[in-house]
Order: sequence, then structure tokens, then C-alpha cells
Amino acid sequence: MTSDANVTRGWDKLSSTLTRLGRPEAQPEGTPVNMALTRGSTVLFPTLNDMRHQGQKRFDHAYIYGAMGTPVQHELEKAIAVIEGGSDCQVVSSGLAACTTPLLAFLNAGDHCLLPDSVYSPTRRFAENVLKRFGVETTYYPPCASAETLTGLMQPNTRVLFSESPGSHTFEVQDVPMLARVAHAHGARLMMDNTWGFGIFAPFTHGVDVSIQALTKYPSGHSDVIAGAVTVAKAEDWHLLRDTAIQLGQLAGPDDCWLTLRGLHTMGVRLSHQARSAMQVAHWLKDRPEVARILHPAFPECPGHEIWKRDFTGAGSLFGFVLKDTFSQSAMEAMIDSLKLFGIGASWGGYESLVLPTSKGITRNFPADEAEGPSMRLQIGLESPDDLIADLEQGLSVLKAHA
Ligand SMILES: *Cc1c(COP(=O)(O)O)cnc(C)c1O
Repeated sequence: MTSDANVTRGWDKLSSTLTRLGRPEAQPEGTPVNMALTRGSTVLFPTLNDMRHQGQKRFDHAYIYGAMGTPVQHELEKAIAVIEGGSDCQVVSSGLAACTTPLLAFLNAGDHCLLPDSVYSPTRRFAENVLKRFGVETTYYPPCASAETLTGLMQPNTRVLFSESPGSHTFEVQDVPMLARVAHAHGARLMMDNTWGFGIFAPFTHGVDVSIQALTKYPSGHSDVIAGAVTVAKAEDWHLLRDTAIQLGQLAGPDDCWLTLRGLHTMGVRLSHQARSAMQVAHWLKDRPEVARILHPAFPECPGHEIWKRDFTGAGSLFGFVLKDTFSQSAMEAMIDSLKLFGIGASWGGYESLVLPTSKGITRNFPADEAEGPSMRLQIGLESPDDLIADLEQGLSVLKAHA
């Protein structure tokens, strides 16, 4: 059994750093704790020469024009780069834009890209529509594919191997160091959607070239911001990414960046608490006769559990579970409708608990072999885990009544 320390270690280690990041430099006359919020499109310069000079610094977090980011966006970018352990970061308008912007930056017409079958479905839709229209071909691979299988799927024009670990809805943990070896042996970049592992998975020490974050989730943490971030391992990739983001008009508003910076300061304690509560709820569910399987990387039955133990320093607030196949989809939906403390809605990573069904409407090219019961996904918030368990207990009685 995984102890609480294994799911909270990384959060506890990060907490002191999180309280220091993105704060103003100390001034002799006194310094506010938090950064000022600067809103602005136009920036005025004393002379044309000053304006031209500042314009050359678009790769250095300079304040040139609002569309190239404001000071608070640039502080957020520096903070994310520190947490991810990368060279440079570009903040964009959403987590989805954080997936699409680097794909547009690092792929050209005629290129090939590999996506895990467990990828976040809007990323899949982008590949099927926009990338396809612009002449990029995509192949899907099983998220737990071996190095041999992946090597067999690489083509001479494969330029991006994409990873998402754990996978959306199905939670497969991927062997990222192996993916990096395969990608790099074929001259491709490894791009990873690291939203679940933010702060507890160090993408760049495991060989990732481009790490993607939905800041909407843990960093902002209060379900009131949509924003994303793209961080690169190496300065060589920074100019192309930054130039592409500027050409696409990608940025996040100063208010959203400020709220995200504020959320970052408390992320360690929020997520440490939420990761522990999620474990308590998951352990309770595992012992219930109605439940077939827990989809949480810290549980041995989750595909890739051993890799999670090797590569992650903690766990997050989001996991799934599968009901026994004697229960119908409609019985599960009645259970979901009966829950009082779990909101029904998209997204996760906020302070409040959420539930969504996951057994219908997800696209997979390689569906699981065995027939399984209906499944759902839980986001565990800051409520008392005992109250959440009591809510699930009454929900399971509704499930059984519909069986
Ligand atoms: C939510 C999510 C996104 C998209 O984030 P938005 O800010 O909602 O666009 C991307 N990837 C993963 C894994 C997510 O969970």
C-alpha cells in the first residue's frame, strides 16, 4: 500500500519555493508582498530609439506591447520555468492553447506526429482537423507501448512524439525516459502534457523537450481562470516557440496571470492536502464491493504504477474508478446525479470536488480488451474526506437501487 508520504513528498518539498516565486524585488523604501497588477495595451517610450531598442528584447520578458505579455505574465512565466525546471516559458490563453501552440511551432507540412491514444480529447480533435488540414499526419500509439512498438511507428518524417502521463480519463502512466530515447534516436522532439504531474514530475530531467501545462488546474486552483503554459528544456527551442506564440496572438490577460501567481503560492499545501484526501477516498472505494478497479497511479492495478513510483514525487487530486460490470451506465448516472458534495462539471484542480462519467464518449483506437463496467472520474477538493466518503456511500446506495 502506498503511504501518504509517497503522494505528498513532492508538494511538501516545493512549498517553500512556491511562497517565494513571482514576488517583487525588495526595495529599500519597503516592498509589498505581492506583485502589482499592470493592465495595459500601449506602452509609451521617451523616444523612438528607446521603443526600437525595447522591441528587440521580445525574447527577454520585456514589456513592449500588451499583446507580447505584461510584467505579471512574464513573472508567471519565470515562476513556471522554475517549477518545471526548464529554460524558458510562454504563457498562453488556455491549457488547450498550450497543447496547440507548440504543435504549430515544431511541426511543418509533410511532417508526422505520434499521439498517445489516451491524449486529452481536444488535442486529438486538433490533430484530426487543423494539423491534418495543414498537411501533418498523426498516428496514435497505445500509451503503454514498448520501445519496439514505438520504434516501429517512427517514420523518417516523425518530428514530434507526444506524451500525456497519466492519460486523460484512463490514467496510464507512461515511461517518459523511454519515450525520450525513442524520440531522440529518430531526431524528433518529445512533447508532454504534464498537467497532472505539475510540481511532482520533473519533465526535463526525464528527457522531455517541451512541457505543457493547463494553468487552469492546480496552479490557479480556484476554478476561476483559464490559462496555459509551454516550457522548453533548451534555449534553442525558445525563439521558435516565442515567435510562433506572438504570431498567433497568444497571451493571457494580466488579471488571469495575477490570479494564477497568487494560486501558485498556496498550491503546495492545497495539493498536499488534496492528494492525501484523494488517497483516503480511493482506498475507501477500493474496498467497496461495487467497485472493480481504481485508476490512480499510486494503486498497483493502475497501468504504469511502477513507473509512477520510479519517476513521480507525489500524486494529484484527480483519479478514476471502474464499477463492476453488473452495473449499467444509467445506474451510474443516477448515482452521479445524487451526489451533493461533488459538482458535475468539466475541468479539475480547483478547491472543490467534481465528478464526471468517463465510460461513454471517449475515443480510443486501442480500447481495453476486457469488458468493464461503467467508470467515472473524481476530482478531490478541500472538503473533509469523511464528508466526501459519506456522500459517495449514499451515492452507491442509489447505484444499487438502480441495478
Ligand atoms: C484541462 C486540460 C487541458 C486544457 O486546459 P484548458 O485550460 O481547459 O484549455 C489540457 N490538458 C489536460 C491534460 C487537461 O486536463
